[in-house]
Amino acid sequence: KKQRFIGKTAIITGAGSGIGRATAIKLAREGANVALFDLNLERTSSLADKLNKFRKDCALAIEVDTSDEKGMEEAVRRTVEHFGGLDVVFANAGINGVVGPIEELSLSDWERTMSVNLTGTFLTLKYTIPHLKDKGKGSIIITSSINGNTRFASFGWSTYSTTKAGQVAFAKMAALELAKFKIRVNVICPGAIATNIDETTEMNEEVEAIVIPIEFPDGAQPLADGPGKPDNVADLVSFLASDESIHITGAQIVIDGAESLL
Ligand code: NAD
Repeated sequence: KKQRFIGKTAIITGAGSGIGRATAIKLAREGANVALFDLNLERTSSLADKLNKFRKDCALAIEVDTSDEKGMEEAVRRTVEHFGGLDVVFANAGINGVVGPIEELSLSDWERTMSVNLTGTFLTLKYTIPHLKDKGKGSIIITSSINGNTRFASFGWSTYSTTKAGQVAFAKMAALELAKFKIRVNVICPGAIATNIDETTEMNEEVEAIVIPIEFPDGAQPLADGPGKPDNVADLVSFLASDESIHITGAQIVIDGAESLL
């Protein structure tokens, strides 16, 4: 059994559900201390309890909105104080937000998705980078989406897709900027993964009638019977977090069972 993260500490944003949760479990099982950042403290606390039973004091649940600067600064400070350093950062929290035709979107619809998906990613890096520099190396992984640019287009998803494309550009710039500090930054682009994210999609009835939902022929990705599993993505994130990917930085990795090739 692999134990790639003994003595390492990881921050996972959006750790209460889906991809973040699966990744937190995987990293903790391989020896990492994990700081579980999420808006939903109930979910992360119960996950932390389970992980702490598995290995004493390996998990810390922190209630934070990744788009809130003061909150993020404090959450990162608490993590480093608690675990004594930082090695891995998974900037993963995200929402679908309001989906609909551009002229139907309000400015606040636009700004909220921007602020969670893009500003949240910025703040996650801004406040963690100094601690990775202290260690002299580190690995950052950002969750974008195939909507970030490999899928041609999805009707109604302009705001979400813009944030996801922005994350790809941001990851590449960060990778270049941080290479001399031995801090790697990679961005993953999942296709449909079975999580709770659809709960964050908002459409009013008027909009719902216009938006064409994403559909897969036979409801499947070419490689699988349905959408991917959070665990599939967690395996990729663990690889990128570990020294097995020591020469990989600035990479954009698609994980979609060939969905974007349809
Ligand atoms: P999810 O909804 O199951 O989990 C996301 C978690 O993030 C939730 O626990 C939620 O409470 C938390 N969160 C949301 N906004 C937050 C904020 N402002 N601050 C802190 N926590 C916040 O969704 P998921 O599918 O696991 O999504 C994770 C990432 O994967 C997102 O960035 C999403 O865009 C991306 N993604 C998902 C899919 C998919 O099909 N599920 C596909 C491509 C990309």
